[in-house]
Amino acid sequence: MRTKFIIYSLGIALNIINATWAQSPSPSVDASPVTVFSNVRIFDGKSGKLSAPSNVLVRGNVIEKISITPIPTDRRADTVLIDGGGRTLMPGLIDNHWHTMMARPSVAQLLNGDVGHLYLVAGAEANDTLMRGFTTIRDLGGPSFGLKQAIDEGTIIGPRIFPSGAMITVTSGHGDFRQPWELPRVVGAPLSRGEQLGAAMIADSPDEVRVRVREQLMQGASQIKLTAGGGVASPHSPLDVTAFTLEELQAAVEAASNWGTYVTVHAYTPESIQRSIAAGVKCIEHGHLMDEATAKLMADKGIWLSMQALPDELAEAFPPGSFEREKAAEVFAGTDTTYKLAKKYNIKTAWGTDVLFSAALARQQGALLTKLVQWYTPAEVLIKATSTNAQLLALSGKRNPYPGKLGVVEEGALADLLLVEGDPLANIKLLEDPGKNFVVIMKDGKIHKNTLSK
Ligand SMILES: [Zn+2]
Repeated sequence: MRTKFIIYSLGIALNIINATWAQSPSPSVDASPVTVFSNVRIFDGKSGKLSAPSNVLVRGNVIEKISITPIPTDRRADTVLIDGGGRTLMPGLIDNHWHTMMARPSVAQLLNGDVGHLYLVAGAEANDTLMRGFTTIRDLGGPSFGLKQAIDEGTIIGPRIFPSGAMITVTSGHGDFRQPWELPRVVGAPLSRGEQLGAAMIADSPDEVRVRVREQLMQGASQIKLTAGGGVASPHSPLDVTAFTLEELQAAVEAASNWGTYVTVHAYTPESIQRSIAAGVKCIEHGHLMDEATAKLMADKGIWLSMQALPDELAEAFPPGSFEREKAAEVFAGTDTTYKLAKKYNIKTAWGTDVLFSAALARQQGALLTKLVQWYTPAEVLIKATSTNAQLLALSGKRNPYPGKLGVVEEGALADLLLVEGDPLANIKLLEDPGKNFVVIMKDGKIHKNTLSK
């Protein structure tokens, strides 16, 4: 009975599709929306200097032409002409360590609040993330699949999302937010709240790791995130612990690489980083407690470091004297050492904020980027947040949800663009006030903000 109904329904669906095709004219390239930026100085995401005054034509979602001479257009009524007035055109910013579902709510809201509320808050935050000039984020843990779908289909406004799905942790590891009364865990028993949400999944054997990894891939994960060592925000994980065994990490790497993508791990200590690399992990998140030998290993093996200068406000979220606050102090003290090691050994270094549970910090996303001028020139910082970050995103291979070039302004690249009031290479602080200084924000060829008259 059920089968018959499905076949009948399929028949109707096919008839509707056929009728739609018969009515609508075949799509032609020329029907794509066109935007022309004239008189802009281009920061292309790769070179540390601005171009001569140039013109840029965007057709559909692609940068079609860049020229120092005027680009003739057919002047269709719907062609958008933007006179840049000598302002800077640059690639949209990329945050390679973001949590779309966990940036704005409090820990209590995440663990106890209504799920519908969490999604609506995340939707509002996604809108604001794009309005801060971040056109792409790599989500490093949380149930971001539905949010990504709503953004990609145009239901709501937000950045491109490279989702990891749930971060995978061991019992008591970073990501295990259970209370002691929830122990013991029985395989097959109802999941904890964090697992039900898809924020984190607990796995304590190679077989369990494989299941959890494949579940994230099934939902559309573009990369897999494991927590290989202790973390600051987690109540049961000391910083010094090494979480997964080599065999468990290898199981994750094998499952991910069978799927054409990679594993990245949360890890601070030399032990957790080195074991992860031995298992085939391609990227280390944080690394704040690494030593010289580990830095050299990362450089020799071409392992990515996805790093940030964690803001003091993050530590202040925890009460003075608390376990979490003490761990924060230890990790934060390692920031300077790790950035210096990364530079000394020329480690491939990406950047991401890792804002968690703080609406106020989320609003400072751009300011968290400009903090890097303690270690890098403004040009290096801007290159890091655009083309370098895009190189890390490209590790997702065939699981990349947005095939095409990101993080650069060049012909053929995806049209994620910011028009900046001023020169961010000369004054990187412009990024700290995106509401004022980003006068045009374009993602995937669509203009989401334009304060200039046409
Ligand atoms: Zn994180």
